[in-house]
Amino acid sequence: MNKALVIQNTLSGNKETFKSIVEGHVGMYVCGPTVYSDVHLGNVRTFLSFDVIYRYLLFLGYKVRYVRNITDVGHLVGDIDEGEDKIGKKARLENLEPMEVVQRYTNGFHDVMRLFNILPPSIEPTATAHIIEQIEMSQSLLDNGLAYEKNGSVYFDVLKYAEKEPYGELSGRKLDDLMSNSRELDGQADKRNPLDFALWKKAEPEHLMKWPSPWGDGFPGWHIECSVMSRKYLGDTFDIHGGGMDLKFPHHECEIAQNKGSYGKKPVNYWIHTNMLTVNGRKMSKSEGNGFTPEELITGDHKLLDKGYSPMTVRFFMLMGHYSSTLDFSNTALQASEKAHQRMMIGWKELQDLPVSSSNDVDVTDLRSRCETAMNDDFNTPILISVLFDAVKNINLVKAGQQKIDEANKTALIQLFDDYLFKVMGLQEESNASTGDDLGSSLMEVLIEMRKEARTNKDFALSDAIRDKLASLQISLKDGTDGTTWAKGS
Ligand code: AMP
Ligand code: ZN
Repeated sequence: MNKALVIQNTLSGNKETFKSIVEGHVGMYVCGPTVYSDVHLGNVRTFLSFDVIYRYLLFLGYKVRYVRNITDVGHLVGDIDEGEDKIGKKARLENLEPMEVVQRYTNGFHDVMRLFNILPPSIEPTATAHIIEQIEMSQSLLDNGLAYEKNGSVYFDVLKYAEKEPYGELSGRKLDDLMSNSRELDGQADKRNPLDFALWKKAEPEHLMKWPSPWGDGFPGWHIECSVMSRKYLGDTFDIHGGGMDLKFPHHECEIAQNKGSYGKKPVNYWIHTNMLTVNGRKMSKSEGNGFTPEELITGDHKLLDKGYSPMTVRFFMLMGHYSSTLDFSNTALQASEKAHQRMMIGWKELQDLPVSSSNDVDVTDLRSRCETAMNDDFNTPILISVLFDAVKNINLVKAGQQKIDEANKTALIQLFDDYLFKVMGLQEESNASTGDDLGSSLMEVLIEMRKEARTNKDFALSDAIRDKLASLQISLKDGTDGTTWAKGS
């Protein structure tokens, strides 16, 4: 019998026992990336946290419909309601079609998700494929008197909404404080109140991405896409909505207001927000310039990094912290995780060859029960890892002849690792090349030397063939002043 799963619900601020709307089924929506640039490691932390939540729900036997969108329009530079679209700006600077930008960074995002063994969602809808629904929801808010049109744009009327509903309930913000902290922003003269937010924006002639609407050519605001896509695929009210903490306000607060205002029901039962990956205490972000890409992390080719780390080391590092705490990136922390991860994987390997006895000292039932308790307590992966390290201790004691394990408990222990280390935490064994173990590294040195000789001999067909064959194995070569280095990952 499973113990109850408890979730820290950001909406109530309490830990609550999880109960799905339809028994045995879970609907989960997570805000996906805005695809105008490479994802950085901070973004990875959020998607990885929800990957573990998704995996655990599947492990518990739920049928999960997991929707994670792609934001491909409407997210304006500066996260406000005026200015250029992030994707449009990139397209203009690089002289590309906006959809070329979208495709490039969507592909890159998928590659990164695969690299970290993050499962694909059940549905990955895009904002541009739901323009009609966004127009319809905006119209319904106009019909309900909660929005107004001005010069071809449509705005949500926050004060009108707040007469009946608590605006700020998710982020804990008070309307009065919001009012006194807001100021008129340049170019926002169309708004009745600076707190109002755009549902639909009139497109200026130079704006690249626009669609016809009842209010003229324009494009949707940033928040409305998630309201319509979550409702379309998960229903009026669904179980879990997630995203990084930085999306709580205004993005998620606005989503709640749009859904409630449009059809009168609360959209989400459990809100989950992940905390930030920081560098020296500051949020990792593109604008801070302290974000590095997963590729840089693996090659070590970045000023913040002393060396490269394998994707599973990074996955382990992230799961050693709870998703709701900040996680500070440092070389020392990553090196400690690398050692811990290696110890865990060696324990797992040694378990396979452990000698069995007729007597048994290893209480696998207790270990399993503690794993379950950890995950049921708001997906507590650091505690789960510590229980698995207790299991590794047992493995070492059996190996040293100080404890005994019988056949049944050995099988149960293998199953425990299989369930929690691999299925739930999503770790996977890495090939020699990606962990950089001795044989893999030696073979790579031989190949790099052969390629160097081929180039010296002007045998470019051979040198290119070596590079291309390695690329097909997801191993990239980098030529620098100090010679050639290699890394796993394309
Ligand atoms: P974006 O593409 O910027 O909208 O971000 C995609 C997701 O990554 C959102 O859920 C953000 O909250 C999340 N995110 C952005 N920066 C960080 C960070 N430093 N740590 C954790 N999550 C982040
Ligand atoms: Zn969203």
